[in-house]
Amino acid sequence: MLPSLPFDPSLVLIGGSWRSTTDTLPLVNPSDGSTLCQIARSTEADVDAAVAAAQSALDEAWGRMSALERGRCLTRLGQLVLEHTDLLTTLETLDVGKPVTQARADAIALARYCEFYGGAADKVHGETIPYLDGYTVYTLREPHGVTGHIVPWNYPMQIIGRSVGAALAMGNACVLKPAEDACLTALMFAHLAKEAGFPDGALNVIPGLGAQAGAALARHPGVHHLSFTGSVQTGRIIQTLAAENVVPVTLELGGKSPQIVFEDADLDAALPFLVNAGLQNAGQTCSAASRILIQRGVYDTVAARMAEAYHAKRIGPAESDPDIGPLVSTKQKMRLETLLAAAQNLPCIAETPMPADLPREGAYIQPRLYGPVPPDHPLAQDELFGPVQVLIPFDTEDEAIQIANGTIYGLVAGVWTDSGARQMRLAKALKTGQVFLNNYGAGGGVELPFGGIGKSGHGREKGFEALYGFSTLKTVAAKHG
Ligand code: ADP
Repeated sequence: MLPSLPFDPSLVLIGGSWRSTTDTLPLVNPSDGSTLCQIARSTEADVDAAVAAAQSALDEAWGRMSALERGRCLTRLGQLVLEHTDLLTTLETLDVGKPVTQARADAIALARYCEFYGGAADKVHGETIPYLDGYTVYTLREPHGVTGHIVPWNYPMQIIGRSVGAALAMGNACVLKPAEDACLTALMFAHLAKEAGFPDGALNVIPGLGAQAGAALARHPGVHHLSFTGSVQTGRIIQTLAAENVVPVTLELGGKSPQIVFEDADLDAALPFLVNAGLQNAGQTCSAASRILIQRGVYDTVAARMAEAYHAKRIGPAESDPDIGPLVSTKQKMRLETLLAAAQNLPCIAETPMPADLPREGAYIQPRLYGPVPPDHPLAQDELFGPVQVLIPFDTEDEAIQIANGTIYGLVAGVWTDSGARQMRLAKALKTGQVFLNNYGAGGGVELPFGGIGKSGHGREKGFEALYGFSTLKTVAAKHG
């Protein structure tokens, strides 16, 4: 059951006012299948109103606000997020099925994004450029205007923090479309943003279906930049819609990220990262380490120790703070079961025990560790988005690089080795947006630019880099003789 809320979850926030929509959708708790509440099913008319409200904010108070004041609003918002960590944690736990400790970490990360971008808002500036005699030339960093943010259900708070936080810092007015499976923390964030003093229309939130509200936002001619995190299929649709309006898009589309373990690695240090980066959030993480490449001499040891860790994990309803909760929905569970049909002939070396008393209507799936798996097998190539990892043995460094780079994705990679020279070689050779040497940071790192290559997408979020993505550069050339 939902705790009492300071907002009505069936409403949308447009231009600073909570409004009803013509229709609603049920929001389900994936831990037990119960309906938590009704949420808005925004229509094209709601999207039009939200985009118009964002544009008005740019034309009025929000557009006139100094970078310093924008930063202060964000910093206050970060403080309010911290003060409401308990409620945000409960909402995410119920809505996404995320274990309490992991949901709390996301709430704290959301506060961190607000603090980071609050502090950065007045520190992004242009340059002066030496040009011809008699000229002064400089550049200005300006907001795109109205930015559309289409957010998935796996890490709502972190993804809102990294995209909306950076966009607001640069003075854009945001229209946020949270996922239909998880939108309570987005609404709570909007409630807190009002309290933090953001002018009306600086942040608008319109829950609804992807194909309806999401598509209407992506093709809206009044939107000047789109940020999307989600599946490759949907990313392709969004980029195509954005192309009609010729607007820039940031796409973060997941991956099949490897961790590579060499024989000289510190296995005690590596082990928790190898397993947890695959099972965190029940494997529903864009940067999940879903492939573990292991050098032949330590293959048996690493496989046995990972299997042990799988057996020791606890599955349960998210509210009981297990290691692994349910998937976000029965739709995701069915999708994963279909993909796992391809694994029938693969050796499954560990399954986490499923407690007999799990709620029958919950979206639980048994975590599974497969190995050895041929690198070109569908299970080692396709993003599964569930608590499943594959182990792939290799002999040489070159072979490891070839296997690691041998998917359509390129988001994150981890390398475990004692050799500094090898660390440097792999950091260059791996075709990904991030490389972790002797650590692995699935999802973390507010300060660290993040994004992919290949089918993992393009553009960078997080860190200072995101501020460049959420702004446009104007060159001013003055001739004064
Ligand atoms: P999933 O299928 O796991 O929900 P998606 O990538 O489809 O993953 O969803 C991520 C986000 O994209 C959600 O907010 C969803 O509502 C939205 N979305 C889904 N389909 C579309 C679409 N055709 N146009 C715009 N947004 C969409």
